[in-house]
Amino acid sequence: MCAKLPDFRLGNVLATSFTATLTERHGNAVERIPTPQRLVDWLAVNGLAVDSCTAAQLELARELRESIHAAATATAIQDALPASAIQVINDCSIQGRAAAILTPEGNRQWRLGAASCVEDALSVIAADAISIIAGERDGKLALCASPTCQAAFFDTSQSRTRKWCDMNTCGNRQKKARFNANHRKNGTAARTGVI
Ligand SMILES: [Zn+2]
Repeated sequence: MCAKLPDFRLGNVLATSFTATLTERHGNAVERIPTPQRLVDWLAVNGLAVDSCTAAQLELARELRESIHAAATATAIQDALPASAIQVINDCSIQGRAAAILTPEGNRQWRLGAASCVEDALSVIAADAISIIAGERDGKLALCASPTCQAAFFDTSQSRTRKWCDMNTCGNRQKKARFNANHRKNGTAARTGVI
């Protein structure tokens, strides 16, 4: 069991960081929460620490994830929201018993109803998804321009013209592909050694 598990893609928006635990949905998909323990790890990194997770809770988490992905994608392309996705998101939101807590430093933290309650953590994620899909927050849902990715992401750039879900992965890959294409077209560039 020493095979390295895929890293997490962290972002500023909880709901779309969560949907990014499955990447390259239209290529060679990478599952970044392949085991219950990996979901525990992901939740801890995102301020939603739980003690444990069962296989059934992981399954529920993935169901919520794909529902958020479907609803966010529909919003990005201005399509009707899929009823089944709304149902799952709402069920998860209703089932949780998480409370927002203000720290002495003035930060918000989440207190979950029980230490092992993955459902409480999922309710926080579901509520976050509702707030961006409902258009309550400053930003716009868009789809990643990478054909193998097409992830829904929340664009908070001033011009709302962000093209990639993640600059370090999809954005970079695109840049490299363009560079290589130019490289092939122009043989002299190959000899300059510029990468
Ligand atoms: Zn992408």
